[in-house]
Amino acid sequence: MKISFANKFDNKDNLVIIYSDKNRLLEKNKLSNAQKNLIEKVEKLNKSKKSFTEFFIVPEEKNIKKILISKTKSKFEISHTEALAGKVLSLLERNNIEKAAVICSVDSNRDVSFNFIKALTHGFLMKDYRFEKYKTITKKDFKVSSLSFIYQASQLETKKLETQIQMVKGIYLTRDLVSEPANELYPEKFVQLCNVLKKVGIKTEVLDEKKIKSLGMNALMGVAQGSVKPPRVLVMKWNGKKDKNFSNPLGFIGKGVTFDTGGISIKPSGGMEDMKWDMGGAAVVAGLMYTLAIRKSKANAIGIVGLVENMPDGNAQRPGDIVKSMSGQTIEVLNTDAEGRLVLADVITYVRRKYKPSLMIDLATLTGAIIVALGDRYAGLFSNSDSLSDKIYKSSINTQELVWRLPMDNKFDKLLDCSVADMKNITGTRGAGSITAAQFIKRFVGDVDWAHLDIAGVTWSKRGTDFSRPGGTGFGVRLLDNFVKENYE
Ligand SMILES: [Zn+2]
Repeated sequence: MKISFANKFDNKDNLVIIYSDKNRLLEKNKLSNAQKNLIEKVEKLNKSKKSFTEFFIVPEEKNIKKILISKTKSKFEISHTEALAGKVLSLLERNNIEKAAVICSVDSNRDVSFNFIKALTHGFLMKDYRFEKYKTITKKDFKVSSLSFIYQASQLETKKLETQIQMVKGIYLTRDLVSEPANELYPEKFVQLCNVLKKVGIKTEVLDEKKIKSLGMNALMGVAQGSVKPPRVLVMKWNGKKDKNFSNPLGFIGKGVTFDTGGISIKPSGGMEDMKWDMGGAAVVAGLMYTLAIRKSKANAIGIVGLVENMPDGNAQRPGDIVKSMSGQTIEVLNTDAEGRLVLADVITYVRRKYKPSLMIDLATLTGAIIVALGDRYAGLFSNSDSLSDKIYKSSINTQELVWRLPMDNKFDKLLDCSVADMKNITGTRGAGSITAAQFIKRFVGDVDWAHLDIAGVTWSKRGTDFSRPGGTGFGVRLLDNFVKENYE
C-alpha cells in the first residue's frame, strides 16, 4: 500500500474523514455542502456515542463516490490510533475501495496532528500485511492500493513519515519468518532471510555447526542432532552509540526452533503444523534489530538467536540423555519436547560471556501452559529484576502488546533438581509449567538483569488482532522497540 501526503482532494476522490471535534473539522477543511450535511446527519444519528466509524455512499452528489466518517476520542494515544487504522482499512477493503484521500482533524496542535497521522500510517501498514506468496492461481484478497493524507507537510514531516513507513518492515520480517513453512525455512534459510539486516547497518555473525560444537553448546546440539538440517546461531549487532568497544549492549535472545516435532517425545499429530512458528522468538529478535536500525536507534543492542530443527531421526536425542551445557552445568533431558530451554541455555551463556550485555531479554514460544494461563492476548513475563519488569510492563501499556508478570521463587527452582545431573529439563510434576521453564532459563543468566517473555500464545492469531490479520502477529517488535526508545536513548 502506498501512503503519501497531498495538498488537496477533489470531488472524485473517495474520502476518509477522521475527526474529534465537528466544528473544527468543518471550519478547517473545504468540504462540500453535501459532505457537511452528511457529517451533521451522522453526528445526530450517533449523538449518544463518544466515538464511531460509519461508511456511506453519497448518491446525491454524483462525483463523490464513497465516504467513511470516523469520530475518535480527542486524547491522542498511539495504540488506540493504530487500532482505529486497522478498523478503517478493513472497512475500506470490505467496500472495495482502492484509493482514498484521508482528512484528519483531531487536534489544533500541529505536532499532535502529525503524530496522529504517523500512528494511523503505522496502523494501516500493520493491518495491510498478508502472506500470500504461495497462492499462485487462486485469487488474492482485495487490497487498498493507496491512501493520501490531505496535509500540508513540511520537508521534515515528509521524511519522518517515510521513516515510519520503513519501520513496519521490522514487523513484516518477523511475520514473514513465522509464516514460512518449515520445508522452506530451516536454520540456514533463516540466516539467509536475515541478510536484509546488513543493508541497514546491522553487523551479523553466523556460528555454524562446527563452531557451535567447538564452543561446547551441547544442549543446543542435542536438540539439533535428530535433524538433517544443521543448526545455526545468528548474532546481530547494532552499534547505535557508535562506540568502538560496543560495550554493554542490550541483549535480545530468541528461541528459533524452525520446526518442533517434539523429537522422540513426539507431539500428537493434530495441530502439529503450528510448530512451524516455534521460531517466533528468533523472528521477533530479527524484526526488532531491523526496526532499531531503520530508525537509527541511539542504543547499542545485540540480538542472538539459536536456530535448530527438532526431529526424531536415528541420531535423535533420547529421553534420559545427559548433556553438558556450555555453562558447564549438566542437564538430564527427560522430555525431548522441552527443547526451547536447552537452546536458550547455551545461547544465553554465549552472549553473556562474549558481549557482557547490560541486560538480557529472551523471547520464546516456550510452553503450551502459558496459553492455558493467559490465552492469546497476553505474553507471560518472568524476571529477576523488578525495575526491568516495570519498564517492559510500561511499554506493554504504550503499545498494547500486553504482558503479565508471573512469579518465580526458590521452591519452583528446586523442582528442577535431579538425582543424576545438575538439573532436569522438566519437573515431572503437574502444574506451573511456564514458571518452571522460566526457572530453568534463570539457571543460566547469572546476575545479569534478565526477563523472559513466553510468547507461545501471542505469536500467531487464528482470529487476527487489532493490528494484524489471522496468522503471524509480530508481537514483541513494537513492545521492545518502545522499551528501547523509552529507556535507553
Ligand atoms: Zn517442543
